[in-house]
Amino acid sequence: MDAPLYVTGHQQPDTDSICSALAYARLKQTETDAVPARAGPLNPESEFVLDRWEVEPPELLEDAADKQLILVDHNEYSQAVPGARDAQIVEIVDHHRIGGIETSDPILFRNEPVGSTATILTKLYDEANVEIGSDTAGLLLSGLLSDTVVLRSPTTTAQDETVAERLAEIADVDYEEYGKELLQQKSKLGEKEPREMVLGDFKEFEFGEYLVGIGQVETVDPAVVLEQTEAVLEAMDEVVDERNYDVLLLLVTDLLEEESTALVAGDRPQTVASALDTSFTDRSAFLPGVMSRKKQVVPHLESAFS
Ligand code: MN
Ligand code: MN
Repeated sequence: MDAPLYVTGHQQPDTDSICSALAYARLKQTETDAVPARAGPLNPESEFVLDRWEVEPPELLEDAADKQLILVDHNEYSQAVPGARDAQIVEIVDHHRIGGIETSDPILFRNEPVGSTATILTKLYDEANVEIGSDTAGLLLSGLLSDTVVLRSPTTTAQDETVAERLAEIADVDYEEYGKELLQQKSKLGEKEPREMVLGDFKEFEFGEYLVGIGQVETVDPAVVLEQTEAVLEAMDEVVDERNYDVLLLLVTDLLEEESTALVAGDRPQTVASALDTSFTDRSAFLPGVMSRKKQVVPHLESAFS
């Protein structure tokens, strides 16, 4: 291989995408020319993490056409960097449902149902017999704690717990304490516009013939979002019009109470309501116990729409 290999996470990158791109590029650099990349702007939590571990942000990849890509933390074109359909995807490391990517050659595709991509990458370091340095451990721990809401999300597995303990030891931090700092960064919503709340942590899915967008706001203070529900719904309607979504769902997740409020836009709220076994009143529904888009929402919508 001659050209550099870009290691990139998904659009609207979260901390797991950013830190996984950095950590995996570092591992790949032991054998080839690998460049950590990202598909969009950093969120406040990721900025905090990079600052804390004194690591440069991954390069913004604006067009991946004709480049060699390793995808981390996603495996669907609809979530990938622009140009991904015309790129050569050479490897995927992920912890989500298998999406629609096809390749012409066999590739290494590592997908495991664990709490974060960082968890899998820690194992890849072990398998390659490469020692994990303290700032790499800090990055991996950040991705893991962010995705699992400090091991509280129902996506958390026993492996995530073991790996978190080990990474915290290498990075020399108390993971509960450090995790709380991350949660506070996640919740910095006060100054955000409704549209940013909708699109800040956003994923698009093709479920059969339906195009569905699902945003999530994870916060310790959901009232900041819910007291402007009307403006948020208006922003959601705009996004539905612009992007032709059949449904747009926004989960406002209370990280401390471990519950969500779902807001809905688009033409098929009824399908969403029955998929989630709830009903919408004024386009809003309370979802007790729901914290994970991936585990508690996406599978139900997928089977309802497909
Ligand atoms: Mn992610
Ligand atoms: Mn992830």
